[in-house]
Amino acid sequence: MTKVTTTDSTSEATRSDGFKITVDLDQCISAGPCSIAAPLTFMLRDSDGKAIISDPDGDDIEKVMEAARCCPVLAIMIKDQNGKKLFP
Ligand code: SF4
Repeated sequence: MTKVTTTDSTSEATRSDGFKITVDLDQCISAGPCSIAAPLTFMLRDSDGKAIISDPDGDDIEKVMEAARCCPVLAIMIKDQNGKKLFP
């Protein structure tokens, strides 16, 4: 499985298709829609309800993009294979 790096302030991973997902945990307000839009990619951790990446390859990239779009505080950043920011 692709490696996920989670610290106090971020959870990030690069998918096997090259897209990079970063969750800004300082921004995250534990609202949860990301884990509904892409349930196999994001999970809310028990300690504080913030969204961490469980499996960056769990959902297709469209679902991951949808998860980023529905985050009310734009805490999910997506970059393409060239490091170009796709969202937000
Ligand atoms: S939608 Fe945004 S604020 Fe809500 S849990 Fe996911 S990352 Fe956090």
